[in-house]
Amino acid sequence: MLSTDLITRFAPSPTGLLHAGHALSAMMAHDRARAAGGRFIVRIEDIDGGRAREPFVESILADLAWLGLSWDGPVVRQSARLPLYRAALDRLRAMGLVYPCFCTRADIAREIAASQSAPHGPDGPLYPGTCRPAAGQGEPDLSRPHAWRLDVARAAALTGPLVWTDERAGQVAARPDLLGDVVLARKDVPTSYHLAVVTDDADQGVTLIVRGADLFHATHVHRLLQALLDLPVPVYHHHGLILDADGRRLAKRHGAPTLADLRVAGADPAIITGAIRNGGAPLGFRRDDA
Ligand code: GLU
Repeated sequence: MLSTDLITRFAPSPTGLLHAGHALSAMMAHDRARAAGGRFIVRIEDIDGGRAREPFVESILADLAWLGLSWDGPVVRQSARLPLYRAALDRLRAMGLVYPCFCTRADIAREIAASQSAPHGPDGPLYPGTCRPAAGQGEPDLSRPHAWRLDVARAAALTGPLVWTDERAGQVAARPDLLGDVVLARKDVPTSYHLAVVTDDADQGVTLIVRGADLFHATHVHRLLQALLDLPVPVYHHHGLILDADGRRLAKRHGAPTLADLRVAGADPAIITGAIRNGGAPLGFRRDDA
């Protein structure tokens, strides 16, 4: 790859304020692009209309500027790109790889509690497959509220084994089964994180995805979606998370200061950028490089 072809992105969800962990993701993606003469894109992942807030978008962009980061091209918003995600979902539907799911959260919880052997993934119990179509079943009634789920076993059987490259973990064999039949379109939102992120990263030509290790397992599903939708496969870099002094992931509820807190208080952004560029973490936090 020519170095000028490197395209990275920072893709925050404006459902809250940024903290030092976000600064690490954004700075790494930015610095890699700048060092290679490539492009750094900012994308606002605001598909969750119930939780995304405009003041968070404003704060995120102010934080990035405060950190001294500049981005290329306009800031793209996922809420403006729903037809793109719809087309991807329609394609998977035409391939018979998604099915409508009518379950409520309570239905799913009940089913899992009643099962002796509910499968578990890295983030907890998996969808037990209640709505997965059985052979000979009639057409589902789509007038009822429904999500769309990926039939992972069927999809993986179609693609065969897949691999992806992570700069820290090396060659990784995709295990989309680890996450079960993920939702690709929610009842209230015509897409989902997985479908939108894969569609956008391909559409925007992103070649290196830098994000926190908390999203490592999501990449198994993303790799499967790339294969199903004939999309290019970027390289990944899942960086270690920034933890507080008690070893917990940064969260407002644990009292971690947000970038906005520091910015508004007139702090020097070098306390963040200096520590992160030196391979560490600011403010007494530590970097989990396991
Ligand atoms: N929007 C996601 C988040 O804020 C990150 C998406 C990604 O980097 O793939 O957690």
